[in-house]
Amino acid sequence: MIIKECPICSAKVIRKKVKETYTYKGKSITVNNLPIFHCTGCGEEFIDEERVGPINKKLDALYREVEGLLQPQEIVEIRKKFGYSQEEFAEIVGGGPKAFAKYEKGTVTQSRSMDNLLRILRDSSDAMAILTNQKAICACEAKSAYQVKKDKSSSCSKTSRS
Ligand SMILES: [Zn+2]
Repeated sequence: MIIKECPICSAKVIRKKVKETYTYKGKSITVNNLPIFHCTGCGEEFIDEERVGPINKKLDALYREVEGLLQPQEIVEIRKKFGYSQEEFAEIVGGGPKAFAKYEKGTVTQSRSMDNLLRILRDSSDAMAILTNQKAICACEAKSAYQVKKDKSSSCSKTSRS
């Protein structure tokens, strides 16, 4: 987007590069060479619309850092550790089919509870087994309801597990 005249005073606007610092709870990030439009009449400054997205991404990363939440790359690593696709992982841990596409791109920041769950999965070798076994048991019990004539203990994976 190119602004040629000031929307406030209609004076000529020039392009300028500035250094902008953003602060969240005492932690700061600085964006160098941020292109802006500067009004030669009233001195008002306007940010280039195209720069809003990248800056918001940096601010979201700052927010996650300050709040102790996982960054997108860390979420990718946790998912890949288990070898699941984004859709498969969402089916196991929840959050909806597109959740991990968004978390991993950084377009959406995960909730605190999702973050907690992901860190438990990363750090505890039992956590994923609990989630996946739970699914297996549920599926097994649902299936056994239709197999009334069959011996339940032989078809149920719950009892075959030690
Ligand atoms: Zn102006």
